[in-house]
Amino acid sequence: MHCPFCSTQDTKVIDSRLVSEGMSVRRRRECNACHERFTTFESAELIMPRVIKSDGAREPFNEEKLRNGLLRSLEKRPVSLESMEQLINRVKSELRATGEREISSNTIGNLVMEQLKTLDKVAYIRFASVYRSFEDIREFGEEIARLHD
Ligand SMILES: [Zn+2]
Repeated sequence: MHCPFCSTQDTKVIDSRLVSEGMSVRRRRECNACHERFTTFESAELIMPRVIKSDGAREPFNEEKLRNGLLRSLEKRPVSLESMEQLINRVKSELRATGEREISSNTIGNLVMEQLKTLDKVAYIRFASVYRSFEDIREFGEEIARLHD
């Protein structure tokens, strides 16, 4: 980190704290050459991969769309909005963690279903029935049968 006053690279961190709910780090630095102090903010890159739809078209990741789908699946289920938001955040961090620039909508759907399965079985079935293609319908039927056992 260059000193904004004298441009030397020789600076040290004198204080460091998490801000914006842990999403970024605020650092107080001091220049070892001119002894001026300055503040920096660091945050993880929050870029989401783009979504490749089944027809090959690309579109930006749409959190609102995911939230709406989840709200529909979780209707009248004993699951708090907070748990749902946590699920969305987990899915988003998993998507970011892949490091991919583009990711198929299928992969995203599977990630969401994996999470929903542990959260609420009924919501999982509802979400899956909307999300999965007809090719999977047999496998899906077997899945439902297993859940009923
Ligand atoms: Zn300096």
